[in-house]
Amino acid sequence: MIAQDVLTRARVRVLQDGQPADRELLAEVAVLPHEDVPELLALANAVRARACGNGVAVEVLYNAKKGGCSEDCHFCSQSARYASGVEPEGLSSIEGFLEAARDAHRRGAGEFCLVVAVRGPSRSLLERVATATTLIKRELPLKVAVSLGILREEQLPVLVQVGVDKVNHNLETSRRYFPQICTTHTFEERWETCLRVRRHGLELCCGGIIGMGETTQDRIDFLLALQELDPQEVPINFLNPRPGTPFQDRSLVEPIEALRFVAMARLAMPRGLIRFAGGREITLQGLQDLGMFSGASGLVLGNYLTTGGRSDRDDFAMLERLGFEVMA
Ligand code: SF4
Repeated sequence: MIAQDVLTRARVRVLQDGQPADRELLAEVAVLPHEDVPELLALANAVRARACGNGVAVEVLYNAKKGGCSEDCHFCSQSARYASGVEPEGLSSIEGFLEAARDAHRRGAGEFCLVVAVRGPSRSLLERVATATTLIKRELPLKVAVSLGILREEQLPVLVQVGVDKVNHNLETSRRYFPQICTTHTFEERWETCLRVRRHGLELCCGGIIGMGETTQDRIDFLLALQELDPQEVPINFLNPRPGTPFQDRSLVEPIEALRFVAMARLAMPRGLIRFAGGREITLQGLQDLGMFSGASGLVLGNYLTTGGRSDRDDFAMLERLGFEVMA
């Protein structure tokens, strides 16, 4: 009965009145018994359908500078501090960027995200990304996103000028828990970069990773921080523990809790693009179809920088089977 009250209030507030879930509602949804989670997913799916229709946004990531990163994010196999087996590679050539973008377009993606494993971009790195973006935009009908780490104020106009559509910079987790996942930069530095992106009129892609040891309260705080930033896109990753990293022995997120979190994200941010990112396959396994009815409206095709995923064919077959339309 109590669970039904919570779901009814959530339905009225988010679906009927179009208001995002607040802290109190998220806290109640976070502890709904497992048997009520399917009803929660159905509600989140209805909110998604109203905001996003039948479209699913598909993205390809490109790891344009692999490994060797100065930072110590405990989940990341690209940190130079961990013996994770990731061999560092220098920044891609311009032709490498272009080939990767052409490949993303051939694979059916509508969005291409250039990712570099750095604390923040040097002048030369930024220049090469800018040149590559200009050429990609000239040649291909792709939305271009970049993930370049911490950005300074004067670096944003360069991205605006060359037509970058979106900047990814994740909060990763709650403000309280952040020092437990990274000590070489702060939550505030990430927050400030996100604000700068918004101030310069670029779309913001900002999410994080579930399953790093955070509490339920941290997950709620994390969603409320995202709600405050109001990003156009929220990528949700589930920790895929990488050998050699401090989080190598963490357990995978329970599939039902992963889906509950996606639904909570949809209730907290009813209108944005919520995208399944890394860890989808290993976490959800046989529940990936159900995942598309949990509030998400996008996915990254299987290649998450240093880990793989399932084939494009499987993902596109899933979307067709479920009646979704891939958005260009
Ligand atoms: S998450 Fe980014 S900043 Fe952190 S170690 Fe990995 S590449 Fe570096």
